[in-house]
Amino acid sequence: MVRMETIQYTLPQSRIPLAWYNILPDLPKPLAPPLNPATLKPLGPEDLAPIFPMGLILQEVSTEREIEIPAEVRQIYAQWRPSPLVRARRLEKALDTPARIYYKYEGVSPAGSHKLNTAVAQAWYNKQEGIRHLSTETGAGQWGSALAMACAFLGMECRVFMVRVSYDQKPYRRALIEAFGASVVASPSDLTQSGRAILAEHPGSKGSLGIAISEAVEVAAKDPKTNYALGSVLNHVLLHQTVIGQEAIEQMSLAGDEPDVIIGCTGGGSNFSGLVMPYVGRKLKGKSHARIVAVEPAACPSLTKGRFTYDFGDTAHLTPLVKMHTLGSTFVPPGIHAGGLRYHGMAPLVSHILSLGLAEATTVQQLDAFSAGVQFARAEGIIPAPEANHAIAEAIRQALEAKAEGKPRTILFNLSGHGHFDMQAYIDYHAGKLQNYEYPEEEIAMALAGLPVVP
Ligand SMILES: *Cc1c(COP(=O)(O)O)cnc(C)c1O
Repeated sequence: MVRMETIQYTLPQSRIPLAWYNILPDLPKPLAPPLNPATLKPLGPEDLAPIFPMGLILQEVSTEREIEIPAEVRQIYAQWRPSPLVRARRLEKALDTPARIYYKYEGVSPAGSHKLNTAVAQAWYNKQEGIRHLSTETGAGQWGSALAMACAFLGMECRVFMVRVSYDQKPYRRALIEAFGASVVASPSDLTQSGRAILAEHPGSKGSLGIAISEAVEVAAKDPKTNYALGSVLNHVLLHQTVIGQEAIEQMSLAGDEPDVIIGCTGGGSNFSGLVMPYVGRKLKGKSHARIVAVEPAACPSLTKGRFTYDFGDTAHLTPLVKMHTLGSTFVPPGIHAGGLRYHGMAPLVSHILSLGLAEATTVQQLDAFSAGVQFARAEGIIPAPEANHAIAEAIRQALEAKAEGKPRTILFNLSGHGHFDMQAYIDYHAGKLQNYEYPEEEIAMALAGLPVVP
């Protein structure tokens, strides 16, 4: 008889968290406030009211530690939550490492990623305030499909500006968004002033998240019946993701283990925050000693090479100024396949905890990310999203380091989504068509030279 080893640590539906965890009141130093770009004064709720519902604006600045999850949102979560925590035993064996590797798997959501955790919440709060139309952008297409699904669940309409490079590379993501009833427009488009301005200057523009955000915000700002929804970066988005880490803490205790290192990939910082913020809260109480590592692509290294300063969240400068690690709002990152990581900035909250020394950051090259993803798929049977491959590459690096030291190490990472709609990227990888991108130093220097001046 072979002894059964535990692979999955599952929780019953009743253990879906009752509240989101807001780290703001627990931080040793407050976040720098977002600024109105015209007055350079801290933003008031009324500045955001044209594009966001008050329910979410209040969450953005809330100092309550626990924010109750509405019953209807929690009921929708029950379709895929609690998500599994998996011990990657076959990967451990393949690496011949003394490290124990766990991953929290968010690809079980019907949209295929963690993004549905906030999409459902955002659509719900908008609906409470009578909004029936949402406008948004999507990079790789995961956020677009999550918001489209949430809108379908709640009987709302949705328009998605999809970054041109993904629109062309990922027709199935687009088809999925349309299947859920949303409309998709390639960005830059001629539907908005911001889009037309970019196209006039760069007719072949492949787009960027910064440009798509400008277009989606512009549409919402001009139409009182339409609000805007953002899939990452903002405090309320990161807040909604904290169900991930709260579940993980409970599941790690079922496993009788405590992480030594916790890893997430970072585009705008939401899946990373979802897993790590509840642990950072424990660190601040002396209950966790874990190293916390954010992993970003070498082609778009905002945390490791960006400046920690006030900048716009979008290219056309329609958003407030926020203090974050930024490569400059006009920087258009190389067309790597991890579309969800192609953002010039970072969540202010993630930048802040990095500056407080509560987390660290590292980079991974595109080919190393895919090689790690393929190794993971062969051991664990899951095709990861290209974004998540960055976290996997770092988890494997850590496991091999533990092996070299001959010491155990408990590694926990967020497997933020599956890659079933990203198979073209894997085809290109296997055909030898993917390349590494050097750090685009000159373009970043140019974009940084255009940073707004904030005294
Ligand atoms: C969007 C996305 C990311 C990057 O966004 P974050 O806000 O940094 O999490 C990472 N992984 C997947 C699967 C995504 O869909």
